[in-house]
Amino acid sequence: MKKKNLVIVESPTKAKTIGKILGDSFSVISSMGHIIDLPLKKLGVDIENGFEAEYVTIAGRQKALAAIKKEAKGKEAIYVATDPDREGEAIGWQLKNRVFKKSDNILRVTFHEITPAAVKEAFAHARDFDLNMVEAQIGRRILDRIVGYFLSPLLWKKIARGLSAGRVQSVALRLIIEREREIQRFVSREYWEIGAELAKGSSKFSAKLDKKQGEKIELKNKEEAEGICNDIKEKEFKVTDIKQSEKKRNPYAPFITSTMQQEAFNKLKFNANKTMLVAQQLYEGIDIGQDNPVGLITYMRTDSPRVAPEAISEVREYIGRSFGKEHLPEKPNYYKVKKLAQEAHEAIRPTFVSRHPESLKGFLTPDQLKLYTLIYNRFVASQMKPAIYTVVTVIIEVGQYQFNASGSTLSFTGFTAAYNENAEEEENGEDKDKIKKNVIPALAKGDILELLGLLPSQHFTKPPGRYSDSSLIKALEEDGIGRPSTYAPIIYTLIIRDYVRRIKGYFNPTELGFKVCDLLVEYFPKIIDVGFTALMEKELDEIEEGRLDKIKVLKDFYGPFKTSLDFAQANVKKEVITTDEVCDKCGKPLIIKWGRRGKFLSCSDFPTCKNSKSITSGVKCPEEGCGGELIERRSKRGFFYGCSNFPKCRFTSRALPENKE
Ligand SMILES: [Zn+2]
Ligand SMILES: [Zn+2]
Repeated sequence: MKKKNLVIVESPTKAKTIGKILGDSFSVISSMGHIIDLPLKKLGVDIENGFEAEYVTIAGRQKALAAIKKEAKGKEAIYVATDPDREGEAIGWQLKNRVFKKSDNILRVTFHEITPAAVKEAFAHARDFDLNMVEAQIGRRILDRIVGYFLSPLLWKKIARGLSAGRVQSVALRLIIEREREIQRFVSREYWEIGAELAKGSSKFSAKLDKKQGEKIELKNKEEAEGICNDIKEKEFKVTDIKQSEKKRNPYAPFITSTMQQEAFNKLKFNANKTMLVAQQLYEGIDIGQDNPVGLITYMRTDSPRVAPEAISEVREYIGRSFGKEHLPEKPNYYKVKKLAQEAHEAIRPTFVSRHPESLKGFLTPDQLKLYTLIYNRFVASQMKPAIYTVVTVIIEVGQYQFNASGSTLSFTGFTAAYNENAEEEENGEDKDKIKKNVIPALAKGDILELLGLLPSQHFTKPPGRYSDSSLIKALEEDGIGRPSTYAPIIYTLIIRDYVRRIKGYFNPTELGFKVCDLLVEYFPKIIDVGFTALMEKELDEIEEGRLDKIKVLKDFYGPFKTSLDFAQANVKKEVITTDEVCDKCGKPLIIKWGRRGKFLSCSDFPTCKNSKSITSGVKCPEEGCGGELIERRSKRGFFYGCSNFPKCRFTSRALPENKE
């Protein structure tokens, strides 16, 4: 049968899922991502002429383009059903503009979930392209291109060829570097605490020294702590006040991109990139025993916690049935949208609440099931009642000292029956656990407590923690410099370029990262400023909303940028890092250089003497009988350790193996 219509999407799985929904009169083809972009080897932006961008077919994508053209021949209508955001809009518009030229039978369809209802609804409301959205995407592309194109050569000049700088990821790098310097500067201070194990009858609980004569107490050393212990150990511990209150804990909003990435890191140890890859699989469709793939979650790039009314009815019905009416609020819970989202974006939620994670066990990979379960539970919980805790705080006086004890018990489970955000990052986790575990028995004012033991303990103030995927995304979001489509790529880029390394889940900047950041801060303080970058992101949003002109935004940016650039181009010089080692060919000192593959030692008399030497890690190659040493290397896929006997020995490793004696 001749298919009358063509649908263009960006991935083969999505094509399959949609094809099943639309039926026989539609042919669905995948573009496999962007086909048209700025040229690879030149700026591609005519700055003098209104920042006119030169778009070309990406090298290697001609075949895909030809396939689309061929499919499009003789079709009554062509629908572009790429993802519902700026990127998707731009992919489609570029195709319409370049490939199909003037034909007006090319329409845009958008949906936030790949379900029969949503897809059919979208096709019933096919529309023209949203040019404001396209302009915003092009504006971002041009800004990023200008920054990358002009800044990278400066990094080459000063540090090493092949390095690159990006507009937004350089700001993220700066956050990581600044945190690292805070940690380096941090001077730890000793302090002591005194805990008391107390009992009333057979019930035990713990309290902590809080005040002396009404003033907060700070103990600097062991002597002070022991002095107090000796002073009070024979004295009476008397209850002087008891406060009891009810505390409500509201459920969390359903996931948006940033919160999903944070929680998937905290709970599942997924990095941001992995979370997005797995979420995309769930969104585009998975075969769950119904012949063809089914879209399991809504679109994963979103900053809106809004939920479609049908999904709310469905989940309320489910909550009433599975958790009981007492867990269902009278009216649905609504969550505030951060900015005025002009388009109807939605939270990340399961497409059908009736697809319980349990029922998908045989069909999903372990990672897909874990993420789906997290998304599912978070969504269900978001429409449940608050949890209620009874918090008891007891004041206990001992001579001139005052101890506090507090504990909380869950008196109504509420949403925590479905979802509990307890696996928080270490920094916040410690205190919460203590409060939870402490169960305060029934006490009355004037009660004398039995002292089971005094526990003085030594502590040291801790430096701020390094960023993780979770805390970095949180910081980027709070500073206004991240967007749903950029959090994961920012982190990925910093790692691939070996500007930071993820060690046990935390970002450690490399020497190279410090150098790149310092150069940018010195010569481009404004470009790498958090506030300025946040403003640029906001202005791009305003272009999308049709409230700001792209050219004006680009001009406002380019003026100050050009001033910094001219100064930098005239002043940035090659940096020479000397060492104590000497060249074994000519005796001149060796200096440190960076090359495409990483750091190495070079003769300072280069190019007269071309001697160079690897810098080894001092760790022996673990290959049997090799005898080489491991060397830090960089490749297109990021940092790794390779053997000094390469190419004879091809051992590589992401982490340094233990040195075996
Ligand atoms: Zn030499
Ligand atoms: Zn080896």
